[in-house]
Amino acid sequence: MAARKFFVGGNWKMNGNKAAIDVIVERLNGSINTSVETVCAPPQCYLDYTKSKLDSSLFVAAQNCYKVEKGAFTGDISPAMLKDLGVSHVILGHSERRHVFGESDQLVADKCAHALANDLTVIACIGEKLEEREAGQTEAVNVRQLTAIKNAISDWSKVVIAYEPVWAIGTGKTATPDQAQEVHEELRKWLASEVSKEVSDSIRIIYGGSVTGANCKDLAKKPDIDGFLVGGASLKPEFVDIINARD
Ligand code: PEP
Repeated sequence: MAARKFFVGGNWKMNGNKAAIDVIVERLNGSINTSVETVCAPPQCYLDYTKSKLDSSLFVAAQNCYKVEKGAFTGDISPAMLKDLGVSHVILGHSERRHVFGESDQLVADKCAHALANDLTVIACIGEKLEEREAGQTEAVNVRQLTAIKNAISDWSKVVIAYEPVWAIGTGKTATPDQAQEVHEELRKWLASEVSKEVSDSIRIIYGGSVTGANCKDLAKKPDIDGFLVGGASLKPEFVDIINARD
């Protein structure tokens, strides 16, 4: 089995301006371990600016995009537009899109399919809410969200799955390495039985939810954790430590 390349994404959410981006870019350019696939996801109005500033060994991701190429969808952007800007990755199904903006499993799956058809790498986010975990529904919720994606796509080679328990996002409550590993392992088993052994072995399953410079190394030791999707800490100097978590 080929080793899975460690993957670290920084989700800047709706934060920053050109001056703040300059500071982040200066920290990252020239100091990043290129054996890690590192991706920065600025707000969409700064995609072009960020792309023009970051070293070409670092990738730029959108935080969202829509499920069709063009048309009367005010406020949205399409994979074709991202490709036109040279953007290679897109985050889809983030819990804030699902729970603040009400995106359904089906909409997220349709977006994944359309982004993949346009040759973008998709960071597909899934994860349970606290009440779902407490009700013993963690696996069922993650499988339900992933099943919608499975039914919409056929090629998983450009998919990275981000397991992001909603209760851990932006809360300072990280899943323990054992809790995260348990879910990642379940997801890999599910992929082996429902998709293929090859996909299960090769796909990156990354963890997101209050990852910091302090907790990243212990999480990165787990065999089924192939990297991180990082919110708050991706704006800070410790993002470099998170990228280097496996060193
Ligand atoms: C995220 O936005 O995907 C995220 C994981 O945020 P945070 O690291 O701040 O919890």
